[in-house]
Amino acid sequence: MNTDTTTDITFDIQKIRADFPILETKVHNNKTLVYLDNAATSQKPKSVLDALQSYYTTQNANIHRGAHFMASKSTQDYENTRLTVKNFLNAKHTEEIIFTRGVTEAINLVAQTWGRQNLQKGDEILLSTMEHHSNIVPWQLIAEEKGAVIKVIPINDNGEILLDEYEKLLSPKTKLLTICHVSNALGTINPLEKMIPLAKKFGTTIFVDGAQASVHLTIDVQKLDADFYAFSGHKVYAPTGIGILYGKMDILEKMPPYHGGGEMIKDVSFEKSTYNVVPHKFEAGTPNIADAIALKNALDYLQNFDKNALHAHEQALLQYATQEMQKIEGLKIIGQAKEKISVISFVVEGVHHSDIGTLLDMEGVAIRTGHHCTQPLHKRLGLDGSARISFALYNTLEEIDIFINALKKAIKMLL
Ligand code: PMP
Repeated sequence: MNTDTTTDITFDIQKIRADFPILETKVHNNKTLVYLDNAATSQKPKSVLDALQSYYTTQNANIHRGAHFMASKSTQDYENTRLTVKNFLNAKHTEEIIFTRGVTEAINLVAQTWGRQNLQKGDEILLSTMEHHSNIVPWQLIAEEKGAVIKVIPINDNGEILLDEYEKLLSPKTKLLTICHVSNALGTINPLEKMIPLAKKFGTTIFVDGAQASVHLTIDVQKLDADFYAFSGHKVYAPTGIGILYGKMDILEKMPPYHGGGEMIKDVSFEKSTYNVVPHKFEAGTPNIADAIALKNALDYLQNFDKNALHAHEQALLQYATQEMQKIEGLKIIGQAKEKISVISFVVEGVHHSDIGTLLDMEGVAIRTGHHCTQPLHKRLGLDGSARISFALYNTLEEIDIFINALKKAIKMLL
């Protein structure tokens, strides 16, 4: 928990909303925006927007090795974010934090470096039914190349991992367990504290996709004993195009580089090049400096709240919306796990999810429809898609009322 003296104990929702200028936006016929698509990307507070403006108006410069004031200042700020992320994840070393474009790039990086180096014919990659496509396809690419096999952990109808089935799938062949901390479609919080020790008994390497967890849960990579952990800035109130890969130092040091180019080298000759130390070995070329710097502002913003108050607010939104949605005839909530974050996917009998999305949009309510990049999960549930609402810290109970009324109106029109 944050002990900062500026911690907002009272959780003043109107004050919070004022931090996000976009929430004042009017859409379609002057309707006030009700933004319920936070699992796709969150909105950005003023401190993040100001950081971007300030960076480009006062200090834009390429980082590392610059011989001038602005280059040093930008390098310092960029590296300061790395330190902030280290603390955010409770990593042991700052060097264990690698900047990427997001979770997708982090997974591809590990698949193409660690995967290429360590996977052999017949090795097994274990992942769950609820994985996002970005935690499936990169592994399929490397598995195909190496002759490795992908095994899938089944779930129950509530959208929870079947732990007994999971245990049965583990064996000395399990080289990698790659799993989402939280499901983007179901909201399920996976029991990693139970799952990881079981896999570790077989020497399995663990990759955790933290895309949906990092904004809702307190992450402690040391306590989890994850070998890799990734999250995307844009889901934690930071800009798009910046993300994080955490990896344990001893593993990162053994991994070959991913992209070749400037910054990732120690020495280059036409005969042979040698590589820079971790993390720079994995950060070829000019990085996304401005967005990396603004990521610090976003994490500072998030960490300024009392964790318990934040959690209680998001859970209250989840419970109220769930309760009101369950009153709607023909509506089925997809994902009823006991441990859930504030994401609700649903279908309505006789109504196509995309039509619901279109009609809600006309009322100013922004939701997401489709397969949410989880086609195998939807197939398991016998669906081709669903509608999804997802909450952030700035959402209110009043917004849920607007959503429920708009949803009822839409269903009436469509049936
Ligand atoms: N995993 C999960 C669970 C996600 O929700 C997302 C984003 N929707 C990703 C991975 C991919 O993240 P990004 O698109 O930011 O790389």
